[in-house]
Amino acid sequence: MILFCFTQKYSACFLSKILFRTATRKSCAKLSFYTSRLLHKRHLSQNKGLQSVYAQNDRFIPLCSDPSASDLAKLQNFLDMHPSIFVLTGAGLSTESGIPDYRSEGVGLYATSPNRPVQYVDFLKSSQIRQRYWARNYIGWPRFSSFQPNRCLYILSDWERKGRIHWLVTQNVDALHYKAGSQRVTELHGSTHRVLCLSCNYRITRHAFQTMIDEANRNWSLDIPTVMADRPDGDVDLDSDVIKEFVVPPCPSCGGILKPEVTFFGDNVPKTVVHEVLEKMFQADAMLVLGSSLEVYSGFRFIHRAHSHEMKIAIVNIGSTRADNLAEVKVSAKCGDVLQRLSV
Ligand SMILES: [Zn+2]
Repeated sequence: MILFCFTQKYSACFLSKILFRTATRKSCAKLSFYTSRLLHKRHLSQNKGLQSVYAQNDRFIPLCSDPSASDLAKLQNFLDMHPSIFVLTGAGLSTESGIPDYRSEGVGLYATSPNRPVQYVDFLKSSQIRQRYWARNYIGWPRFSSFQPNRCLYILSDWERKGRIHWLVTQNVDALHYKAGSQRVTELHGSTHRVLCLSCNYRITRHAFQTMIDEANRNWSLDIPTVMADRPDGDVDLDSDVIKEFVVPPCPSCGGILKPEVTFFGDNVPKTVVHEVLEKMFQADAMLVLGSSLEVYSGFRFIHRAHSHEMKIAIVNIGSTRADNLAEVKVSAKCGDVLQRLSV
């Protein structure tokens, strides 16, 4: 049994390294999902204690009404008129899985906590900030990586299988679309499930990196807080004295700085990614926005470009969005309540 566990642990880690060194970036995203599933069980079993100390996670959806029959009819007609849809998804799609968003009134991170995500420039220039980031992320990872897709994500995966989704771009970094089975996906802001060296482009799955952290911190003593709040990026609160003892593993290939393959606040989405997404978008018949306030320019730019090219746009989001005036159809309701009432 011990030998089996050892073999499973290291073969999965080794496999993930080989896969990430040899695969293209696009296929990496798919491989990372399967590799992460392979390692997922081990981390859950290692961190059973953590599962019980988090607060309840069913409270991140803002208050809202059921969608009206007339709004649903308009949206159904929109889908019937446009067989090949480009979908843009935001944090509102993950809140039904228990992951809070940043901006929702009353329940998002900005409304409930003084904590703010790390800025890209700070992560680059300060080893202390990187130590703080990775220590907190290390503790939050077993919980964050265990979130499962909700009904919205499974419905979208089903729509893709039926050929109704030309492409989907998400602003979320939680890999839930891949977990639900979608494949025609661009993760606009990257994924917390992958780690990248900033010097040599060495890549590793986040689960495999967790093992590297485990090994570098065998002597790290830690009293786990009694209650840890869920955060949109898996961050948790840790005492600064505890963080001082935390060891951040360097890149095993060149000794450089490792960073989640995520576009941090203050950084930009690579231009090549934007162009690829625009190309996919213009091939589609229409655009459907789900669960995004569109406050962040990186997402807003697509709807702005779509509108200027006279693409038809529908938006499903609780509350208003920055682009409501650009949409032909706007439904203010929970995405799951809307999607499950539509037929494609
Ligand atoms: Zn490196």
